[in-house]
Amino acid sequence: MQLQTSVGLDRNETVAAIGTARPGQHDVSVDEVGDIKLDYNNVLMVPGTDTCVASRKDVEMRTCLSFNRGHGIKYTGVPIMAANMDGVGSLAMAKSLMTHGIFTCLAKTHSSDDLLTFFREDPRRKDFCAITVGLRGADRDTFRAVMNAVGDLKYVCLDVANGHTNRFVRFVETFRNEFPDLVIIAGNVVTPEQVLLLVSAGADLVKVGIGSGSVCETRIKTGVGFPQFSAVIECSQAAYSAGARIVADGGCTGPGDVAKALAAGAAFVMLGGMLAGHKEGGGEIITRKFATSELDANGRAVIAEQRYVEFYGMSSQAANEKHFDGLGLWRTSEGREVLLPYRPSLDDTVRDIFGGLRSACTYLGAPDIASLPSCTRFVRCNDTHNRLFEDYPALER
Ligand code: 5GP
Repeated sequence: MQLQTSVGLDRNETVAAIGTARPGQHDVSVDEVGDIKLDYNNVLMVPGTDTCVASRKDVEMRTCLSFNRGHGIKYTGVPIMAANMDGVGSLAMAKSLMTHGIFTCLAKTHSSDDLLTFFREDPRRKDFCAITVGLRGADRDTFRAVMNAVGDLKYVCLDVANGHTNRFVRFVETFRNEFPDLVIIAGNVVTPEQVLLLVSAGADLVKVGIGSGSVCETRIKTGVGFPQFSAVIECSQAAYSAGARIVADGGCTGPGDVAKALAAGAAFVMLGGMLAGHKEGGGEIITRKFATSELDANGRAVIAEQRYVEFYGMSSQAANEKHFDGLGLWRTSEGREVLLPYRPSLDDTVRDIFGGLRSACTYLGAPDIASLPSCTRFVRCNDTHNRLFEDYPALER
């Protein structure tokens, strides 16, 4: 497929990639030609021909991962990570998700005291949780304090919105030198070149995804990003070649997208929006009343209640006001703020995700999640599903 661009090109000229402008040039020069890049909703997975997996319940959901650097550390669990976001990366979410074998990257905002208590209460949490550290010195101090007190944390998540900077690469390097035995999760980036830089700086798992998140506005505010499915394929190949793996972060809208990300080569899939909306996330639960079109015995509109949970991007105005001194003069909000319908059961949400993954594996003939890449053939498509009744109210249970 080809893309058409009118920037600095003859109107009839077609190119297969976006051009690259260099300083001092008037025209945009097209010096990289490649295929159009894809998102999860541009592809489907084709059922296998020899599907030997008899039942969904036979599918092994856990994977066993070892890491080049984290000495002897092995991850045995479901290859899903809860995102280090408010409303998702809370201590209560981590406790609950761990019972399902799901990993959590804790939000950056937990105090060292809370983290200490959390890891001391149950040492097994070290196998399923990472403290998240940003570029701020305070984050590093928190991590050091907990590490020194607890002694044997296994994972850390080094997280910045833009991992395409030398500063971040050096940051990963410094962290690796200080903590040679940790499994380092680092991101976010979207190009194979930057994946390789982060891996050689010391990352074991590179977090891939810029602009694809459910409450992200970076693409709208900046025009920067990379379609997530292609980023996952290209970056996971690069990471693999360097003895590392990737975490596909952001953009999953349902269990099918999680399956696609894993089949495309991601070692983990990180979820924000798909795990948001539960009380365990810690966000405020808000009750709204509204008049329905039904009438009561007195002819008055029946009032219904709906509960919501606030959810926002970590670069939103809300997050900046909550955790920092607001947006300041140089920033604009790059995150959405939404009210999600309250979801009463995290267990049900997890069951829905697992059910979809199990079913994907049986269609594709994968006996376990780890076999998904070798069992999957993708096809490109214009649309993935039928939307006829999408806007109709759901049946109440
Ligand atoms: P989701 O699973 O909700 O689609 O995506 C979650 C990911 O979105 C997070 O792990 C993080 O990488 C990204 N993200 C979270 N908040 C923001 C934000 O405010 N702006 C941007 N650009 N990305 C965000």
